Order: sequence, then C-alpha cells, then structure tokens
Amino acid sequence: MPHLQQPTMSVVQRSSALKERVEFYRKKGQRIAFVPTMGGLHKGHLSLVKHAKVTADVVIASIFVNPKQFGPTEDFDSYPRDHTTDVAMFEEEGCHVVYIPEVEEIYPPDFKTVIQVPALDGVLCGASRPQFFTGIATVLARLFLQVNPDVTFFGEKDYQQLLIVKQLVKDLGLPITVEGCPIIREQDGLAMSSRNKYLSEEERAMAPALYQEMQKAVQEMTSGKKIESVLQVSKKRLKDLGFDIDYFEVREIASLALVEKDITQTSRLFAAAMLGNTRLIDNIEVSLKS
Ligand code: AMP
Repeated sequence: MPHLQQPTMSVVQRSSALKERVEFYRKKGQRIAFVPTMGGLHKGHLSLVKHAKVTADVVIASIFVNPKQFGPTEDFDSYPRDHTTDVAMFEEEGCHVVYIPEVEEIYPPDFKTVIQVPALDGVLCGASRPQFFTGIATVLARLFLQVNPDVTFFGEKDYQQLLIVKQLVKDLGLPITVEGCPIIREQDGLAMSSRNKYLSEEERAMAPALYQEMQKAVQEMTSGKKIESVLQVSKKRLKDLGFDIDYFEVREIASLALVEKDITQTSRLFAAAMLGNTRLIDNIEVSLKS
C-alpha cells in the first residue's frame, strides 16, 4: 500500500461543518483531542498541540476571541488577530482541523445562558476581572459540546482557568479528560503570552523581572522565611521597577485557598501585574522542599 500522506488541515467556520469532520473521525474510531485558543499563537499554544498529538489520533484546535471574557475597558478590540499566520502555525504543528467560528456560531442572537464556577472564580484573576471566568466557562461549555472531544489540553500558565475547566467538566458530567501542560517561557524566563506583543522594547526588557522575583520569593519561603514578609518585600521591589501589582500570593493548588502562614503542602505562587498597558500573569510551584 502506498504511504498515505497527512491530509491538509481543514479550516472550518461553521459548527455544522465541524460536526461532519468529527463524525468522520468518530466513525473511524479515532481519539479526538481539542486545543482551544484565542489565537495570537506562540510556542505555548503549540506545546499543547504537541502534547495532544501524543495521546490522540486527531487534533482539533480553535481560534475564538471570546467577547464574554473581556470587560468593557479591556483589550477585546486590540487583541492580536492574524488568522493566516495562526492557521499556518497550526498546520505546521500537525493539527487536523482548526475551528474559527464567528461570534453568532457560539452565541446565537438569543443566547441567554451563563455558566459559573463560583467556588474557584472569585479570587486571583476573577477578583479583578468579574466577567472573566464566567465568560470562559460559558464559551468552553459551548465549544466542548460542539467539538465533542475525548481529551482537551490547557496550559498551566492559566492555572486558575485549568482548575475551573476541570471542575466544569466534572460537574456537567462531560466525557472529556482535561490535561494540564507546563508553562512555556522565553529564554529569559518571561511566560509566553499573546499579550507580550503589546510590550514596548523597554517594558519587554523589564518583564522577566516578574518571574525572577517569583523564583526569589519561592526560594526564600521554602528556606523558612515568613511568607508574609517575603511577599511584601517582593511586591515592593516589583513596584519600584514599575509593575502595578494586582496580586502576588500563595494559594493551595486545588482549592486556591490562601496560604498565609506555613507551607504545609505543595502550593503555588500566583502573580498578576500591569506593566504599562500590558497585563502579565504567571505562577510557579512552591514545593515543601526545593
Ligand atoms: P489563550 O489563547 O491565551 O486563551 O490560551 C490558549 C491556551 O494556551 C490556554 O490553555 C493557555 O493556558 C495556553 N497557554 C497560553 N500561554 C501559554 C504558555 N506560555 N505555556 C503553556 N500554555 C500556554
């Protein structure tokens, strides 16, 4: 038999066309992985596709800048949208389908439902962006039902989102496995993000200081210094460098409960800060011994 070449990737905009593709794969008994994104692709997104390819026969990615997760003064209009480049990057990485729906395909004009995971969405990013996780949970429920995957991949870069997705899938009884993937960083340590494109040259040079400070703080906390004072000193140093800090705190890895006194179990240090007009977020494990 001649060697079959990988068919070219399909780009679909309609959920009906997506459904046809999915039914085709299902009939062949293939395992389907799903990688949702908002585009503006970088190696962090592509790492999810790499992970997906290991465990699934078919990888479906989506690009959808979800209006429901942006507040009125946030960057919905300026969010990077370059579908040509993104599609080429997904194809290069070996995706089989890219789903790029219009807003109406996800939210028809009479759409009224919201999905919320209140136990996890009120802290960290949810405290300063009240609409954020409701928007995310709602869009992902829609996407999961349209794509109908066996497994879906999310980055630990958005750790709170990963927890919320896991809870949502469990609570709704969706037959989907949710896999978390490690944070991909630039060489200087800055966590890759679509929003890094907004940074000026000067801000880009300063941005890795956030991760450096986080590493320093973790080292000090695990060597026995008081959490509160370590965090205070770190925040002051970051402020002096020009970061406007939203949060810089240690939380438990499953409940996201605040850890204020002793690290008695593996936790995470979570940080979010504005550098100029760019919101940076990051997180890093705080293990009992490092
Ligand atoms: P976004 O396009 O920002 O909605 O992100 C889509 C997916 O890519 C989410 O699961 C993110 O957590 C993941 N992601 C974004 N940046 C990174 C990164 N630097 N490393 C790993 N995953 C990432």
